Amino acid sequence: MSTNESPSAREETHEVVVIGAGMAGLMAATTLADRDVVVLEAADRAGGRVDTVRRGDYWINLGTQFTEGTGPLIDALHRHRIPLGTLEGKSVALSLGGKQVDTSNPFSLMVRSRMSFLDRVGLAVVGTRILANVPFLEMNPAKRLARWARAKLDARPASYVLRGIGSKLTKDMVRSWSGQWMGCEPEETAATQFVSSMGILLTDPEKVPNLTLPQGGNQTLTDVLTADLGDKIRLNSPVTSVAWTADGVVVDYEDDAGPVRLHARRAIVAVPADVAVTIMPGLPPEYRKAYDAIRYGRYVVVGFFTHEEGPQSWDDYLAVSTPGLAFQAVFNHAAALRRGSSRRPGGALACFAGGAEADKLFELTDSEIVSRFTADLLSLYPELEGKLGEGILRRHPRVVPFWAPEGRASLPTLRQNLGPVHLAGDYQLDLPSLADAASSGQQAAEKVLASL
Ligand SMILES: Cc1cc2nc3c(=O)[nH]c(=O)nc-3n(C[C@H](O)[C@H](O)[C@H](O)COP(=O)(O)OP(=O)(O)OC[C@H]3O[C@@H](n4cnc5c(N)ncnc54)[C@H](O)[C@@H]3O)c2cc1C
Repeated sequence: MSTNESPSAREETHEVVVIGAGMAGLMAATTLADRDVVVLEAADRAGGRVDTVRRGDYWINLGTQFTEGTGPLIDALHRHRIPLGTLEGKSVALSLGGKQVDTSNPFSLMVRSRMSFLDRVGLAVVGTRILANVPFLEMNPAKRLARWARAKLDARPASYVLRGIGSKLTKDMVRSWSGQWMGCEPEETAATQFVSSMGILLTDPEKVPNLTLPQGGNQTLTDVLTADLGDKIRLNSPVTSVAWTADGVVVDYEDDAGPVRLHARRAIVAVPADVAVTIMPGLPPEYRKAYDAIRYGRYVVVGFFTHEEGPQSWDDYLAVSTPGLAFQAVFNHAAALRRGSSRRPGGALACFAGGAEADKLFELTDSEIVSRFTADLLSLYPELEGKLGEGILRRHPRVVPFWAPEGRASLPTLRQNLGPVHLAGDYQLDLPSLADAASSGQQAAEKVLASL
């Protein structure tokens, strides 16, 4: 395979090159840290979609919200002795008609909220449709019944849960859930991911404490991994092309001093799907097809540090759903710090809009978005008047990957290496997440080590 001609490029050689310093790339590179490895990152910071802003005792996760799951991600947090704030005892709520209702028991929601009979029936039908699938999703995926149920869910859009439902409130809530958990509309995605995420919340809210908040925010881990890698990471070094033969790769990238051509025995490509297809023009058609099937959720996030003094009505909630506002949910990052009766002054809240709402907000200027979010946050919690710090905005065109109905079928292709090129990223495993990004990076590095 030929590479782009770049006669003036500086040349360098390494054993392994990792492309992208998000969680997948960082985990891959730290697993290979004893080898001659170099990491090329386009941005001026490592961490990718992990992004935390800190002020005093508090932090706001403006990228990845919660660290969840098990495996290499949690192992790395323990290995680096990063304290995990527990969310045990914390709950989730819904703000509806000016009333904040605890939804840790979703069934009490229908009894305790102000809603019409039609709305109650609508929510009950949606809940039943989701719950009917949960036992199959929890089954060993190798079992025939589990495979059949998953295939059915993979073939239909998540909006099937709304079929025949007239209640506007129910439709708004399903849209809001889909927007806040996946960053997309229920029509866009196959039902599997939506039903799995909502199923856990509905059946086993006790699992919610499995969501943890590393102290100092999710970026604490990517900062530690970045520091460990030291000058093996090259920031501001976007890769423009990856080409390969049977026994080596040639990577073209740019840095402040101009174009560079890097030769390596192996590469781990840990960039989002749409970037991967651009920088690897020589991808075989089945890989290109699999990448093209990956879609991303969208979010607009505005974080606020707050300056209140005493206990607040949101202290015990890690998340409050807010259908009907400019944002669909508020995440309370300080929840992990609230234990017992003592409460430090101040706090940290992140307001989220996802899916079609985010798409509309992308059209606005930063100050228009921040002022809409500020006004709606104050309408939700008027007690914050005069106690809100400036809004910190992030626009995320990529949140987590999802697949349209039948789109996931070609995914296993991306788990196969292309000769010396190994692929990593959150799209590789079953339910895309930060934990999956970390696992995929470690797995790719282990395969590389075995092949050297
Ligand atoms: C707002 C938000 C909230 C989220 N909430 C959660 C959550 O609560 N729980 C959860 O598990 N997950 C959550 N996620 C998803 C999670 O953040 C991602 O799954 C994970 O961070 C993906 O890691 P990655 O390494 O695969 O990709 P990325 O983090 O996207 O890393 C890819 C890296 O490649 C770099 N790159 C791109 N192009 C090039 C190039 N040409 N050359 C070199 N480098 C390049 C990028 O700059 C980036 O650093 C959230 C994501 C967002 C945005």
